[in-house]
Amino acid sequence: MPCLRCNEIKTIQAHLIPQVFCKEVQVGKGHATGVKEDGSFYFSQSGTFDKGILCADCDGLLGQLEEYAAKILKSIREHSKGLSFGPKIVEGVDKEKIVRFCAGVLWKYSITQEQYGKINLYGFQDDVKRIAYSEMDIPEWFDVAIFRLRIHAQDDGVFAYRAPLIDRKNRVRLYRFMVGGCLFFVKVHRKKMRDDVLTELWLGREDSFRFCIAPAQQFEEFKISKDLAFNSEKLSSFLDRQDEMAKSKT
Ligand SMILES: [Zn+2]
Repeated sequence: MPCLRCNEIKTIQAHLIPQVFCKEVQVGKGHATGVKEDGSFYFSQSGTFDKGILCADCDGLLGQLEEYAAKILKSIREHSKGLSFGPKIVEGVDKEKIVRFCAGVLWKYSITQEQYGKINLYGFQDDVKRIAYSEMDIPEWFDVAIFRLRIHAQDDGVFAYRAPLIDRKNRVRLYRFMVGGCLFFVKVHRKKMRDDVLTELWLGREDSFRFCIAPAQQFEEFKISKDLAFNSEKLSSFLDRQDEMAKSKT
């Protein structure tokens, strides 16, 4: 299939979760764990990719946003060490790039195959693509709120990444995904949220970049990844035992 943006015939191996974020996650024996929408998981060294969606140029433009986001998220992790929970304001971050980065992640997941965790952007798919490629101003209906999920006060690590999934909150459709130790909520919906708990955090506010430090233990992303780590530990010790039994027979 040709590039879904520009029709170039030659497509490349496009990473759905950018490689830079997959490399940060190391669970067990050097494996990164990805969690799919249905809660199932897969092991991978480099994350999932789709060979049939984008050409090198179109993937590269999103890659620039991904590199910028990775740099900002790393800095968020480092600077969150020792701080109290709650909203933090950071000067000098290009909010627009972070918002367009989120559009890029969602759009890629909207054009991939079901087996890689395709998401439905409903009537917004084309506009989300245009946001990702800076072909339109960021509209009011597209907004982003970010949480740094910290396991303990000195934590500056990354315990998992998670592909986007739909999460409806107070009649509004949000997409949530996790990369770089941070959980993203992306609003792709014209309605305003009722009792909007994220009101302090939306990047669409007039002022500086902001994010919220929160205890990882209160979020499903942490619980799921912990369960997986436990289960895969059981699995690997079981496999190790099998190996020993095989050896003792010979
Ligand atoms: Zn292209």
